[in-house]
Amino acid sequence: MSDTKRKIIIAVDGFSSCGKSTFAKAIAARLGYIFIDTGAMYRAVTLYALEHGAIRSGIVDEEAVAGLLDEVAITFRFNPSRGASDIYVNGDLVEGKIRTIEVSNCVSQVSAIPDVRRKLVAMQQEMGRRRGVVMDGRDIGTVVFPDAELKLFMTADPAVRARRRYDELTAKGQQVTLDEIERNVRERDAADMSRAISPLRQADDAIVLDNSRMTVDEQMEWFMRTFTEIIDK
Ligand code: C5P
Repeated sequence: MSDTKRKIIIAVDGFSSCGKSTFAKAIAARLGYIFIDTGAMYRAVTLYALEHGAIRSGIVDEEAVAGLLDEVAITFRFNPSRGASDIYVNGDLVEGKIRTIEVSNCVSQVSAIPDVRRKLVAMQQEMGRRRGVVMDGRDIGTVVFPDAELKLFMTADPAVRARRRYDELTAKGQQVTLDEIERNVRERDAADMSRAISPLRQADDAIVLDNSRMTVDEQMEWFMRTFTEIIDK
């Protein structure tokens, strides 16, 4: 019988816009785990840097961003209507503001700054200390929790990913083109994979999930089989 009491860490890494957050959130709800969107944390720092002059005309001043870090307090508060936690910076709700194309265009540069990663990785490790979390990002299975009991590496065709992100943003009323989204998705993949510190890569013990042609229900069915096998071990 499954030991449903044993709480584990589920690391969900992978490429931009392949539905990691949606899937990780659904897994957490199903298992009664806490869902942590680490991309939102890098986006929150990027937004703060944009609003405080450390990024001008798309140019990221790394020292200026690092210098702002002590004044950025990131917190999460559960929002029952979303079934997930909203992110706050210094008490201000920024959940909507961090998902714009302006933030997306600068976030990979900000997330490559060593001081930024040090601060956010330490916070993430603290949040997962008691296990029972589903954490999505780029380096969760490799750096944040290399000892995670279940590691997923999600991928999908870049054109499929761009279309999904485009539909999501236009549904929210944002004025974007499919071309600019596809460019952003490809550029972020390349930047995230090639950065010197904690590059995006598949952990040796991660299980690959290519969801180009899978519905969320099919992914969940696949996941529950995998989860049960691991928890029963
Ligand atoms: O997941 P999301 O697309 O919102 O992440 C935004 C960006 O944050 C990524 O493109 C990546 O540059 C950065 N990121 C990261 N490490 C993580 C999560 C996100 O570098 N664990």
